[in-house]
Amino acid sequence: MPTPTPPLCPVHRTPMTPKISAFGPWFLCVEPDCDYRVSADRRTGEPLGTPTDAAGREARKRAHAAFDALWRRDYEGNSRRRSRCYRWLASVLGLTEAECHIARFDVARCDEVVRAVQALTAGRADWRGVLLSARFDPPRDSAEAEKGTPEWGLA
Ligand SMILES: [Zn+2]
Repeated sequence: MPTPTPPLCPVHRTPMTPKISAFGPWFLCVEPDCDYRVSADRRTGEPLGTPTDAAGREARKRAHAAFDALWRRDYEGNSRRRSRCYRWLASVLGLTEAECHIARFDVARCDEVVRAVQALTAGRADWRGVLLSARFDPPRDSAEAEKGTPEWGLA
């Protein structure tokens, strides 16, 4: 297995320690009272997203629950639908598609995801048609998009 570069704890700025659990590899902070961690890819050992604390993990779960419902409904293995939903989300959040990963979002950004999904679906019967047929043009300039994306969620 290649040796991944450990992410830094956003609070302590120290390299995090790799661990293996029943759920796969992950990184945790060496400081005893620090709750920041991030799971890692089983194959490469690279961190999947940015380290976050319990509040951040809960926020990411809420965002995934709201967002995944968009593309999972009547999904039937239609991966174009999934990528279209991601394109919509990137467009709404002003991110490039490469930057649009809930595993990298902070609490505020996750709440934005939930609100965006609610705004899309609330009180309009045609939201699926709008979502699945519209063109989305997220920003291509990553420097521009990163201004609105705090890396560590410590706002
Ligand atoms: Zn820490």
